[in-house]
Amino acid sequence: MAHPRTKLIRRLVQRLHPYVPGEQPKSKGLIKLNTNENPYPPSPKVLSAIKAAVDGRLRLYPNPTGQPLREKLAKLHRCRPENIILGNGSDELLEMATRAFVEPLRGTIQYFTPSYSLYPVLADIHGARKNPVPLKADFSLPSRKELNRPGKWNVRAALSFITTPNAPSGCGYRSAQLDQLCRWQKGVVILDEAYVDFAKENSLRLAFKYPHVLVARTFSKAYSLCFQRVGYFVGHPGLISALDKIRDSYNVNGLGQIAALATLDNLPYYRSNFRKIIATREKLSRQLTELGFRVLPSQTNFILARPPKYSAKEWLQKLRKRKILVRWFDHPSTRDYIRITIGTAKEAEALVRAAKLIQTVSF
Ligand code: PMP
Repeated sequence: MAHPRTKLIRRLVQRLHPYVPGEQPKSKGLIKLNTNENPYPPSPKVLSAIKAAVDGRLRLYPNPTGQPLREKLAKLHRCRPENIILGNGSDELLEMATRAFVEPLRGTIQYFTPSYSLYPVLADIHGARKNPVPLKADFSLPSRKELNRPGKWNVRAALSFITTPNAPSGCGYRSAQLDQLCRWQKGVVILDEAYVDFAKENSLRLAFKYPHVLVARTFSKAYSLCFQRVGYFVGHPGLISALDKIRDSYNVNGLGQIAALATLDNLPYYRSNFRKIIATREKLSRQLTELGFRVLPSQTNFILARPPKYSAKEWLQKLRKRKILVRWFDHPSTRDYIRITIGTAKEAEALVRAAKLIQTVSF
């Protein structure tokens, strides 16, 4: 029987299947390869900047628009601060975009499947229509002809989310192909580049070329700053100022702004980490392939791999018994795969050792 208090809650919320984040385990000693966090800590200069800011000033509100950080980002991306809005993680901005650009009940939110599993949840929360468009069997983008078929890609969707490079497949898309997609589109397009620092190319130029295209970036993954929750959009001031109207006044916390500013002063440190992660990714992909896994080519800090001998769900459990956490998505297109975040070289070695043992010992 329904709890008597359910009548206090909107039907839409009662029916909602919320977003499920990866596990943040309480016990120590686990190798955590399940939430695409960076295995390397923030630069020591970032840690010092945060520590230096922890004093009586915590009583004050932070800069409401994140002006210094937006100015520094504008310099980096060769644009103006008016082209940039900050969010409490890029997740907050994705949610703000649904509120700013999509009419509840009538408007459509469109995305490829599989991609970031937050998008359908944002649509459901907002009461928007959803248009999930399947990627090809090899997780590549369908051709223009395929997308043009009735019931497929909707050029009039109010908001289209494209994760590039994609998650959880890890596959990169060509910027030229994204350019074509953006050109047809009548509604807003968000190119979600959360993992772009591990990729061969980015599509930032499209945020300057088209007034209806926003590029989403985050300090979480490549810049080792998940804990601080800082993300941003780059795009035309017309869209950015609309988002700014519905932004909470102090949406990005002060220590987050300080950490992100110090990060931008230490980019060589992070670029050297990207190179290490990419090298580990390539080596791990080769080693798992030799063990019989089907590893998709990745342009991110994770790989999607179809394991041999046991089902992907069994591998998830068997690795967990050996204190290694990976992620499994119970969706028809990803059910046969596990997603493995690229950790340190040592963590990758531990994973390969565990995989060899799981294949040879039957428990
Ligand atoms: N986009 C994608 C594709 C992601 O995987 C994530 C992280 N789960 C995000 C955006 C959000 O990152 P954050 O809110 O930490 O900036």
